[in-house]
Amino acid sequence: MKRDKKKQVIEVIFENYLKQFLQKTGLLDDFVNGKIKCIFCNNSVNFSNLSLIFIKEGNPVFVCDAQGCLEKVRDLLKKEVRNND
Ligand SMILES: [Zn+2]
Repeated sequence: MKRDKKKQVIEVIFENYLKQFLQKTGLLDDFVNGKIKCIFCNNSVNFSNLSLIFIKEGNPVFVCDAQGCLEKVRDLLKKEVRNND
């Protein structure tokens, strides 16, 4: 039970941080209104299905938590690291 509580705290911190980030980038309204899409599957991304955000060419890119999308982002990041070598 202790562990569950900890996880909840982490999720709350993440959500607060995410809100701040979205506010700063001017994307909070779009995010809340479901206008932010996963870069891979084009589904709306929200607080419950967002898996990660990364910055590509200066713009935040959003990825949902679908298994296929997580695999694609892993491949993409691997490629980017290789390009930087
Ligand atoms: Zn997706």
